[in-house]
Amino acid sequence: MSEKPRICLIYTGGTIGMVETSDGLRPPEKPSDFLKIAPELEEFVEIDFVPLLNKDSTNMNPSDWEKMARAVHERRNDRYEGFVIAHGTDTMHFSASALAFALGRNLNFPVVFTGAQTIPKVLHGDARINLVRACRVALESLAEVVISFGDFVFRGCRAQKKDERKFDAFESPAFPPLAYITETIDLQRPIPREKKDDGRKEIEFRPHFEKGILQVALIPILFGMIFAYIILV
Ligand code: ASP
Repeated sequence: MSEKPRICLIYTGGTIGMVETSDGLRPPEKPSDFLKIAPELEEFVEIDFVPLLNKDSTNMNPSDWEKMARAVHERRNDRYEGFVIAHGTDTMHFSASALAFALGRNLNFPVVFTGAQTIPKVLHGDARINLVRACRVALESLAEVVISFGDFVFRGCRAQKKDERKFDAFESPAFPPLAYITETIDLQRPIPREKKDDGRKEIEFRPHFEKGILQVALIPILFGMIFAYIILV
């Protein structure tokens, strides 16, 4: 039997797995080829691979959040140290927030979202390294949904994308990073939500999401009747 810690890697699509073809960039035909971008993972983890979706994240919707939440929840007692979810960057923070709320406050292991700004073929790019780093983060004593990207680990429901191209693509303006990725994973202490050994409380699983959401920015000319109009139309 393997001595290595076990991680469940859920693949959902995005640039991190894209391949170059004569017709441009395409999702991989066989998502399982994705693992080949980082063969060195074998050195420190045993990975169970779940090819759940193969989508650009701009096309993700609440039923995809539900699928991801269920994929984690169904495997919650399978003795994984943590979960890694490979995801497109454009809506990763929405999915991470959705899973944070779906899995609730009794979550007792890390669920680590990651993605990339470049496809794996770009040698100096971030696909391979972000995947390897996310798997390292998934072995840490974190009990929450996080985004591991570039040099940072952010709370999933506090992060947002800040750049389309730079490798430093995410930020968390209202909450400090949970960790800095250096030679080690430097968790900031006290760890806000740490894994507990005292047995697992059952996850309060709420995977259902309202679809009719409208985000309204507060601007000086916003007037109340606009809402009446939106509600009635
Ligand atoms: N459009 C892609 C996506 O969000 C971009 C990326 O992965 O960075 O799936």
